[in-house]
Amino acid sequence: MSYLGLARKFRPQNFDEIVGQAHISQTLRNAISENRIAHAYLFSGPRGCGKTSMARIFAKALNCKSVSTKKPCGICENCLDISKSSSVDVLEIDGASNNGIDEIRVLRENVKFSTANSKYKIYIIDEAHQITTQAFNALLKTLEEPPAHVVFIMATTEQHKIPDTVLSRCQRYRFKLISKVEMSAAIKNIAKKEGFEIVDEALNIVITVSGGSMRDALSLLDQASSNTGKIEGKYVRDLLGLLPKCIITSVTENIAKGDIQVILKTVKEITEQGYNILQFARDLRDHLRQVMIYSINPAIAEILPEDEKLFEIQKKMFTLAQHVRIIIYCQKFLKKCAGTISQGFSLKCIFLKCQSHIMI
Ligand SMILES: [Zn+2]
Repeated sequence: MSYLGLARKFRPQNFDEIVGQAHISQTLRNAISENRIAHAYLFSGPRGCGKTSMARIFAKALNCKSVSTKKPCGICENCLDISKSSSVDVLEIDGASNNGIDEIRVLRENVKFSTANSKYKIYIIDEAHQITTQAFNALLKTLEEPPAHVVFIMATTEQHKIPDTVLSRCQRYRFKLISKVEMSAAIKNIAKKEGFEIVDEALNIVITVSGGSMRDALSLLDQASSNTGKIEGKYVRDLLGLLPKCIITSVTENIAKGDIQVILKTVKEITEQGYNILQFARDLRDHLRQVMIYSINPAIAEILPEDEKLFEIQKKMFTLAQHVRIIIYCQKFLKKCAGTISQGFSLKCIFLKCQSHIMI
């Protein structure tokens, strides 16, 4: 049997299994039990936070043949077909490749036909913001007065690109980024089921790099867990080409001291060792941002207990204004230098700028 990636293997099959979106799961569950089903839903939010999974689970709950419809049974014909994406009554449409007026006209014609084997005919439209304005206009009337058996569920990462006329016809749900705590618990649970161990440092890196996207975190874990039964921080760093933590913390100290000679030497060394200079700037920016947040409110910095001592020392090294300025420099560098060959030189200039600001 071919290898099933963790993201697919642990794809949520029920409302309770969707991480971090309990507010939406509960509302949809209530809507089903009270039989208050809207004709059109819009799920918006960052990528990888469960929008499509929620749409499929909601579709299952709506069409489940089980008597208790508050949650899908997962074993009836309809639930199984939807899980396999083979239900003739639940159509998943990629908005990116079906965004034109012709495709929407076909869809508009098809909604008139009754369902084959289910209560509802459900259209899940992913990447809905890619649909053209003209195509959306062609869909308006159907969204407003669809046949009673039709439900639209649109998912988008960019709600602002959806015309107001469409938004006002949808029940809207905003998905949030999955918090570090929620993601950490979910990953630990998966690691336990899969029989591998992940140390806290590695877990923290996976969560930070995936930026609140469960899908990205699981893809990364797929890579990391294929080699060992225990995932160490160093292994994940090497896998991602991240620099050892001590380099970032020592560069931070040297920025504070204004010791530009040492910093330039470090930049030269890490370039020679083949590290990606943009990744270095990204790591430095993220570290400085963490220190800044810690200096303002340690409770929201979400750092590892073992790092507290370091953050206590480093938070006193800069004023808030200096912090902001250095982070802006890193950000500007990253924006300006992506794909250019003079990254090393530009980075050195950034440090010279940092030094002049620290010394003032
Ligand atoms: Zn079922």
